[in-house]
Amino acid sequence: MGKVYLVGAGPGDPELLTLKAARLLERADSVFYDALVHPETVGLAARAEKIAVGKRCHRHSTAQRFINKRLVDAAQTHEIVVRLKGGDPMLFGRAQEEIDALRDAGIEFEVVPGITAALAASAQIGVSLTRRGTSRNVVFVTPRVGEAESESDWASSVLGADTAAIYMGAGQAEAIAATLVARGRAAGTPVALVESASLPDSRVRYGTLAELPLIAASAGSGPAVILLGEVLHEKLAAQQEVARRAEARVVAA
Ligand code: SAH
Repeated sequence: MGKVYLVGAGPGDPELLTLKAARLLERADSVFYDALVHPETVGLAARAEKIAVGKRCHRHSTAQRFINKRLVDAAQTHEIVVRLKGGDPMLFGRAQEEIDALRDAGIEFEVVPGITAALAASAQIGVSLTRRGTSRNVVFVTPRVGEAESESDWASSVLGADTAAIYMGAGQAEAIAATLVARGRAAGTPVALVESASLPDSRVRYGTLAELPLIAASAGSGPAVILLGEVLHEKLAAQQEVARRAEARVVAA
């Protein structure tokens, strides 16, 4: 019987992979990978059979239960099975369901962490998510709930946090902004929308919470994480200054 490794592929840039992950991929017999994993990363698994079990919101999705079953089956016939997930497997990656299925089937497993999207975004824009005097906590949150799942009070955790990293939220930016402002978060709170963090086609936009819907509407089709909090104050101020100057030039002309 084989062993299943739940491996974090990182945010996109193939360089942001742990050595442990790279070595496992090289040795793997079978790799099940998500849609957001970079082709170059999948390509490291030179000798493995590679199976796409891609899940992207609103696109083709292989049912989770089917994935669980395939992992269990693969471990019967392969020695090293890698389940390769975007970012870190343990954050919004449904890892627990796979772990539970493996445990129930008596299959050995191990988790190899990866760099999650929020940390890649923070690195890319050069803004620390914590900061003395400004931010002493960070919440990883998503407003998205799956079918047959009860509503979550995602907003409360954002209201209670100095800094929030909102996953899978760009598509509901309007509802996010409206909810947070209605519940007391200042409309002027700085936000950043970081799309395709760590990748060459990444785009970053800054604005206020009130402007979030506008920012999100102009975003492309890549995965995007929303960062929110006073740690982004300087970035927002710098952008507002650029906008003021551009406006002044138009008026002068
Ligand atoms: N396990 C992953 C998250 C999976 S949920 C992780 O740890 O990063 C998918 C969501 O992650 C996307 O909707 C988006 O919000 C975020 N995401 C993943 N890759 C991203 C990237 N390169 N840039 C920005 N956001 C990303």
